[in-house]
Amino acid sequence: MKDLIIIGAGPIGLYSGILASLHNLDFLIIESKSQPGGQLTSLYPEKDIIDLAGLPSISAKNYIHQLMLQLTNLSSDSLHLNENVLTIENKENYHIVHTSTSSYETKTILICTGMGLFMPRKIGLDNEDCFKNILYSLPSKQMLKDKNVIILGGGDSAVDWALTLKDLVKECSIVHRRQEFRAQDNQVQAMRNSTINIYTPYTIKELRGEDNYLTSIILENVDTKNEEELSCDYLFVNYGLIPTKDNFNVAKENGLITVNRTFETSIKNIFAVGNIITYEGKVKNITCGLGEAVVAITKIDQILNPTKNIPIHF
Ligand SMILES: Cc1cc2nc3c(=O)[nH]c(=O)nc-3n(C[C@H](O)[C@H](O)[C@H](O)COP(=O)(O)OP(=O)(O)OC[C@H]3O[C@@H](n4cnc5c(N)ncnc54)[C@H](O)[C@@H]3O)c2cc1C
Repeated sequence: MKDLIIIGAGPIGLYSGILASLHNLDFLIIESKSQPGGQLTSLYPEKDIIDLAGLPSISAKNYIHQLMLQLTNLSSDSLHLNENVLTIENKENYHIVHTSTSSYETKTILICTGMGLFMPRKIGLDNEDCFKNILYSLPSKQMLKDKNVIILGGGDSAVDWALTLKDLVKECSIVHRRQEFRAQDNQVQAMRNSTINIYTPYTIKELRGEDNYLTSIILENVDTKNEEELSCDYLFVNYGLIPTKDNFNVAKENGLITVNRTFETSIKNIFAVGNIITYEGKVKNITCGLGEAVVAITKIDQILNPTKNIPIHF
């Protein structure tokens, strides 16, 4: 029987594994995707992260690479990829984690499933799936070098991408259906002061192209109803993600897991940290999740080893 099963290998699941290793726990991380890293690998591998303590700037891909190095240096065989956790069965003093390929008995569980298994939200136009140059995530920035790129969306992600790409691409435009952006003020200001073409308040009405290649989009001004045609090499949709629901039987609020102050869920010895949880003041970023992992793993070690002198520094 394992001491701990960690579900999800996003940044918070990986760091939880690093901590579990330092605490000498017998643990396993189970990840449904073929690559670790969660949103950083799937959605923004080439974005520079600039809000991590002590790291002025690091690409998301490199940050996950560093976490993986740290994990594998401590524990080389603790990560199972391509394995989806389907259900958790609660027994009297332990749990059984049922996955797509196996079942594991464990004393404790840490859920780090972030957004879960998410799908990008599409534009919703009929011929959208025909075009190969409509992107919902960016596998490589270089593919957009010297291209005419239109970004759709008005949140942090759309604004971040516009700023990240503006100097690489030939022309960068952003289209949002409202006048105001729902992004950090300093980022919006930087965008307004840049060469990025801003179209607000506009909705996208039509996609035009041939041979599976989108060549232009038709926009409609929300107020005046005037139409405008913009040509493009790539359309990059940033309308957010639609999470799929998991079957874990812990208490939730609006789809997010509720926790106590040590990040234990409604079920004894099942903990949760990172983007999947909710509490007053929760911030959905990496640093907040890393701190939660420290508290949860310390508590888990205390539960597993009540007489042990629990380490705080390593
Ligand atoms: C565009 C964008 C830019 C961002 N920029 C920043 C930034 O600059 N700084 C910052 O701090 N934060 C940023 N964030 C937020 C940050 O990415 C999240 O806070 C972070 O990814 C949360 O990590 P997590 O490990 O909790 O979840 P996730 O990263 O969502 O990882 C969860 C993992 O669990 C796996 N999983 C889910 N369900 C199962 C299952 N049933 N079985 C097995 N595995 C499962 C998933 O496949 C995934 O790999 C950004 C987010 C976006 C979308």
